[in-house]
Amino acid sequence: MAWKLRKGDTVVVLRGRERGKVGKIIRVLREEGRVIVEGVNLVKKHVKAIPNVREGGIFEVEAPLHISNVMLVCPKCNKPTRVGFRIVQEGGTLRKYRYCKKCNENIDVVREKAVKERVEA
Ligand SMILES: [Zn+2]
Repeated sequence: MAWKLRKGDTVVVLRGRERGKVGKIIRVLREEGRVIVEGVNLVKKHVKAIPNVREGGIFEVEAPLHISNVMLVCPKCNKPTRVGFRIVQEGGTLRKYRYCKKCNENIDVVREKAVKERVEA
């Protein structure tokens, strides 16, 4: 399955105590199917001091959210949306786009590949 969410995407939280919160993905954990969203799902972490290395204390860090609990906010229409993929030939290049299922606009290019011959539709 192609990965629908990428680092830098703005997402909204759909479930849980952070429902409705919006933030930017700062890390994608593919193996776990989770993302870390800036400023969302903060948990307190106790860090022990190591002399001459770091100070101890309580820090707030973002805990990962499962991808089924977040939804992309489309950068074109600003609405939470599901993401689709489509492949378009533009000149000598095949591009795979992510697109918004709400407004149907392309969001960005996921992959592209040069093609030698023009493929007739
Ligand atoms: Zn859209």
